[in-house]
Amino acid sequence: MGLLDRGLEIKDPDQVRMMRRAGLVVGETLELLRAEVRAGISTGELDAIAEDSIRSRGATPSFKGYHGFPASICASVNDEVVHGIPGGRVLAEGDVVSIDCGAIVEGWHGDAATTVAVGEVPDEVTHLSEVTRQAMWRGIAAARRGGRVTDISHAIESHVRASGEFGILEDYVGHGIGSAMHLPPNVPNYGRPGRGPRLVEGLALAVEPMVTLGGKETVVLEDDWTVVTSDGSWAAHHEHTFTLTAHGAWVLTALDGGEAELTALGVPFGPLAD
Ligand code: MG
Ligand code: MG
Repeated sequence: MGLLDRGLEIKDPDQVRMMRRAGLVVGETLELLRAEVRAGISTGELDAIAEDSIRSRGATPSFKGYHGFPASICASVNDEVVHGIPGGRVLAEGDVVSIDCGAIVEGWHGDAATTVAVGEVPDEVTHLSEVTRQAMWRGIAAARRGGRVTDISHAIESHVRASGEFGILEDYVGHGIGSAMHLPPNVPNYGRPGRGPRLVEGLALAVEPMVTLGGKETVVLEDDWTVVTSDGSWAAHHEHTFTLTAHGAWVLTALDGGEAELTALGVPFGPLAD
C-alpha cells in the first residue's frame, strides 16, 4: 500500500480486487433487500436478512459494532435520512426506506446504499430518489485521474440543482474507503470543482448524496444515531464505492461494476482483469 498526497490510502491491484469482493457482497445483499422491501416487513427483519447474506458470503458486516452501532444495515424511513437503527418498525405502503450496508472481506471494505419505495409513493418522492441516484452516478462519472475530489462534489450538486428544489445535506458527506470504512478524504455533495486531493489510480471513494424534499438541516434523534430532517421533509440516499484504474472508473459495489451507468454517461469503464 502506498501513501500519497496528504496521507490518502492508495490501493494496489490485489487490494482493489479484494475490495471488489467486499463490494459484490454489499451489492448482492442490497439487491436481495430491494426484493424483500414490502408493506408489512420490519426493518429488523431486513437487517436479519442482510446479516445472513453478508455472513453466508464469507464476509463480516462492517456496521455491526461500529462505534456501538447494533445492526448490519442502517434503515432510514421517510424523514429519516441516514443512520436509522433497524428494529420493530414495520414498513407501510407509501413509505420510502434508505438502506445502507457495509461488508468486510479480508480486512477490505465495501459501502453502498439505496433508497427503495414501499409500494406506491408520491411522484415527488420517486423523483427525489431518482435525482439522488443520478447525482451519485454523475459524481462518479466526474472523477478522472488527475482531477480533484470536489469535481465529484460539483457534479452531484449541479445535477441536483438542475433537477428542482431540493436540500442537499452538508453535515454528512462521502469518504475515502479501503482498509477502514471511513478514511480521508471527505467527499462533500456540494461545492466548487477543482479542489481537494488529486484523484489517482487506486484511490477508493464512497460517493453518497443525501438529498431532501425540503431543507438541508438535520437533527439526531435521542437514540444518538438516527439523522432526521429538521423540517420533516422526506429524504433519499444512494451510495456506491468506486475506484479509478488505468482504464477508468470501476464501481466496486455495483453488480456490473458500473458498466451500464458509466457507459450511458460516456465515461470509460475500468475493471481490472482477475
Ligand atoms: Mg454507507
Ligand atoms: Mg459511506
